Amino acid sequence: MRRSLALFIVLACFAALADDAPAFAPDRKPNEGEGPFQRLIIRGATLIDGTGAPPIGPVDIVIEGNRIREIRNVGFPKVAIKESDRPKDPSREIDASNLYVLPGFIDMHAHAGGREQGTTAEYVFKLWLAHGVTTVREPGCGNGVDWCLHERDRSAKNEIVAPRIVPFVFTRRQMWDGGVIDSPEQARKFVQWVAKKGAAGIKILSSGDPVFDPDILAALLDEAKKQNLGSTTHLSQMGVARTNIVDAARLGLRGMEHWYGLPESLFTDRTIQNFPTSYNYSDEQHRFGEAGRLWKQAAPPGSEKWNAVIDELIKDHFNIDPTLTIYEASRDLMRAMRAEWHDKYTLPSLWRWYQPSRAAHGAYWFDWTTADEIEWKNNYRIWMQFLNDYKNRGGHVTTGSDSGYIFKLYGFDYIRELELLQEAGFHPLEVIRSATMWGAQALGRDDIGVVRPGKLADLVFVDQNPVANLKVLYGTGWIRVNDTTGAAERVGGVKYVMKDGILYDAKQLLRDVENIVSDAKKK
Ligand SMILES: [Zn+2]
Repeated sequence: MRRSLALFIVLACFAALADDAPAFAPDRKPNEGEGPFQRLIIRGATLIDGTGAPPIGPVDIVIEGNRIREIRNVGFPKVAIKESDRPKDPSREIDASNLYVLPGFIDMHAHAGGREQGTTAEYVFKLWLAHGVTTVREPGCGNGVDWCLHERDRSAKNEIVAPRIVPFVFTRRQMWDGGVIDSPEQARKFVQWVAKKGAAGIKILSSGDPVFDPDILAALLDEAKKQNLGSTTHLSQMGVARTNIVDAARLGLRGMEHWYGLPESLFTDRTIQNFPTSYNYSDEQHRFGEAGRLWKQAAPPGSEKWNAVIDELIKDHFNIDPTLTIYEASRDLMRAMRAEWHDKYTLPSLWRWYQPSRAAHGAYWFDWTTADEIEWKNNYRIWMQFLNDYKNRGGHVTTGSDSGYIFKLYGFDYIRELELLQEAGFHPLEVIRSATMWGAQALGRDDIGVVRPGKLADLVFVDQNPVANLKVLYGTGWIRVNDTTGAAERVGGVKYVMKDGILYDAKQLLRDVENIVSDAKKK
């Protein structure tokens, strides 16, 4: 999310951000993760391959080093497997006869935390991995580009316990030494600098720089194309009067975050959101409160304009990464605030960061009302319908969480994003495709996102059926009555996660996080 405070506070904060970046993740210890394996055979799994295909099993999956070597159908459910038909010569085996295996998840909107949240890299990275997230796009690199790239490189070498990191860089003057991005020339220089650094893309947002002025935006996007960089945006209210999402897509923008600029692209009876006369963008209750009253100002579902915008964005292969979860407190503050994982897994510093404050981003509960929540519930209905229509007509929607703000916790609230896409109308297999194959495609990666021979070995293992219930992917599992004992028990939670051929015990990663939190509470 964009941190949007009074301009001077923003500038002061972000100038200091890179210097104040959290410590790098500690080196991976010998007992953290097993592998890569010479020849690992995962026996008898039920496979969900990420393409949208239904579950199939039993299959044996052969992993050699960090690659998937072979996937073999070895029989029928509830029928003994003929041993002679199975792949042979394992250096290590996993009995997956009770496990579902999926591609590693991709969190497309995964800020690494830091100074504001008081979080460490280890804490954030382990929460991600423990929820099956094996790749993250860092949409901004708020800890500084060098920090981001350093951790990306260490993760790529498996020197740390972390997902793959794909850095996108904020278009903010604080990110580089080149000054304000206030002209097409400056815009090009900035993008060239990002490319030279070796980041994967840019995330266009404004912290006072006029990056949404059409000439500057055009230069940013044209240069990004020339440099072969990805692009996405948080097209805030401060820029949308000049350039909405359709305008930006016409200039070459590859995708968007959140919803900003999308309802504005659907206006037919106005050109500017119906701001109350007292509105001040730096008042976060104004900003988020009025955002909840925005979709109803757009052209209605199914209307000519609605369909035209969908068609045009799909024609451009435009990616939508809605981050539904990060706004959820707006429609149900108590749910987000009292989520059961906070007790064990939320750091005290993060908890403080979430509390209402006029000077902290995403802490807009100055006087949040029943009416505000109802507006947001209705707002979600229209937004979700847009996403579902977009998907049904061929558009791609990906999964991002934006955790670390608004009571949303790393890892846990990525799973919540999956649930919210199901609420939007996606079949769970469509949700999983968004979380895996479509994420990979949006990142321009054809080596991850599906379970296929030749792809990198990024896998999620869970002992419950996530298609039946996405809740079983939460680190805290889900409640189910055991019909033998009659007692309620916890089932599920990701069991193992494999990233780049290295197998982690997901429950152990969560125990590590629990210890980090309990140590912090003692202090
Ligand atoms: Zn963000």
